[in-house]
Amino acid sequence: MNEITLKALAKINLGLDVVRKRDDGYHEVRMVMQTIHLYDMLSVRKSSTPGIQIRSNLSFLPVNENNLVYKAGKLLMEEYGITKGVTVELFKRIPVAAGLAGGSTDAAAMLYGMNRLFGLGLSIRELMERGVTIGADVPYCLMRGTALAEGIGEELSSLPPMVRCPVLIAKPSVSVSTKFVYQNLKLDESTVHPDIHALITDIRKKDFDGICKNMGNVLESVTVPSYPVIAQIKERMLASGAKAAMMSGSGPTVFGLFADNETAKRARKDMRESGLARQVYLTTIYNNRRK
Ligand code: ATP
Repeated sequence: MNEITLKALAKINLGLDVVRKRDDGYHEVRMVMQTIHLYDMLSVRKSSTPGIQIRSNLSFLPVNENNLVYKAGKLLMEEYGITKGVTVELFKRIPVAAGLAGGSTDAAAMLYGMNRLFGLGLSIRELMERGVTIGADVPYCLMRGTALAEGIGEELSSLPPMVRCPVLIAKPSVSVSTKFVYQNLKLDESTVHPDIHALITDIRKKDFDGICKNMGNVLESVTVPSYPVIAQIKERMLASGAKAAMMSGSGPTVFGLFADNETAKRARKDMRESGLARQVYLTTIYNNRRK
């Protein structure tokens, strides 16, 4: 095998709660993670030039050791003493710095691809153990499907598959730093926490209306007042027929869940015409787990 091409799938959070701030400054979370069929493409090819060469369709993205793909490649090359080089073509579609785990899923795809390309024989579990050293979301991106993430996001429990439905993604042009969001999150008696337990019960029961009702993201309490466009996108999605609309991760991407494809397509058109979002994609829930 000389080359492998992989899909690196994005995630949304159906639920995101911050339980507490730990003494070391990290936040303890409870997140319901869900893979969607919006993806970057990664082609990894063996090359006679040592090292890792990355080419990407986005000129602003780092292609050096700051790219998570590079970190993932380097990790396995060092551990297994791989002296051959690799060339990576990275075609990005997942909006960057958007709350969709774009970088983490690319790193996960790189770990998966290198394992196959060089016949390392590592299981998904073993890749996940390595992935966590690159980022808290990388193990989940290796696993895929529906899962509860606790701790700082790296403690995973798999959940039964989410109801399959159309998902509209809309990323406004504002940049929101994850650090800013967590630093400005106030946790006190007045904080409205999403009911993650109820959400999980609805997922187990395949109760689509219940899921839509119990979805929630505590980080919206920071981003919505700071970036009104997030609330505008949510309102617009709901007005065009979304059963629920919420920010993913620390934002600023908003996603909407729809009961049928025709309504979702009309909502995509409406969102594009509104000018509220720079990147708009219609995709679906993706439930195949990697084994
Ligand atoms: P999360 O949902 O985990 O918070 P995100 O969607 O907010 O992730 P990413 O798209 O992963 O954020 O990008 C965050 C930063 O990581 C960017 O500023 C970018 O420069 C850097 N980065 C490194 N490698 C990549 C990559 N392969 N794809 C996207 N961004 C990358």
